[in-house]
Amino acid sequence: MKCGRSERRACPGVPAGGSQRPPMPTATVILPAAGRGARFAMPGGGGRASPVGAPETKVFISLAGRPVLAHTLDRFAALEAVVEVIVPVPPEAVAWARETFGERTASGRPLIFVSGGEDRVESVAEALAASDGKSDLVVIHDAVRPLVRRAVVEEAMRVAMERGAAVVGRPVDHTVKRVSDGRLVAETVPRENLWLAQTPQVFRRDVIARAYERRCHVVGRVTDDAQLVEAMGGRVAMVCGDAANVKITTAEDLRLCEALLEAGWPFEGDVRTKRAED
Ligand code: C5P
Repeated sequence: MKCGRSERRACPGVPAGGSQRPPMPTATVILPAAGRGARFAMPGGGGRASPVGAPETKVFISLAGRPVLAHTLDRFAALEAVVEVIVPVPPEAVAWARETFGERTASGRPLIFVSGGEDRVESVAEALAASDGKSDLVVIHDAVRPLVRRAVVEEAMRVAMERGAAVVGRPVDHTVKRVSDGRLVAETVPRENLWLAQTPQVFRRDVIARAYERRCHVVGRVTDDAQLVEAMGGRVAMVCGDAANVKITTAEDLRLCEALLEAGWPFEGDVRTKRAED
């Protein structure tokens, strides 16, 4: 799907899906949830409790009365293609998570909690090692993005099946500045062709397995899975998602998610909106 400057109006319109589509491949879903949420504890932040007994982790914080992770799990349980869901959580949270969420998704698929690693990449590596290895695709989605829509995930799956790797993202609308020490603007970065990567990121199993095998050869900080595929020379297709696919990083993001849920932000269906220039 194109989503460049001249085609910008096409961006919000991820197709709603339909009966004319080819059958979906099978997918393992990995929901990294082992982050410590250091940026969540900010001034004025939160004031939001985790459920009683829950380890102090962002994904267990209450969003509209349920842990953030419960919302994300429900969305993936509703997808027919999903055959297993694997969730890396902090080591001390594994027992609590198993007890609280059980061993099956709402659709009866295996739900596996594993100990996460030092960083996101190592958490995903642990999850890949726990997979039964039978599905066609691996869908990796930040557990802290509970508002993802069915059409976006299914479009990313379709593109990944065709091209090997697909990342959901959005074109950058804002003016971008590089800022130096002392918070002085050093330069304005042209925003043409710049996109913000989100999740889900979807891969054919052989592609992501190879990329993770080679992860120790990648220099510098790795902040998403596609970066490992890029590092081995693999092609990654971009799929246009929603601005509302919020990643809960700060207390402000949590409030934003809550407001969107209250306003009826959907999981199913099309949210195509008319922009002013249409
Ligand atoms: O740290 P970042 O904001 O990029 O985290 C994105 C996702 O990766 C979150 O859902 C977080 O819980 C997860 N994560 C993880 N293991 C880590 C660090 C982050 O599963 N060690």
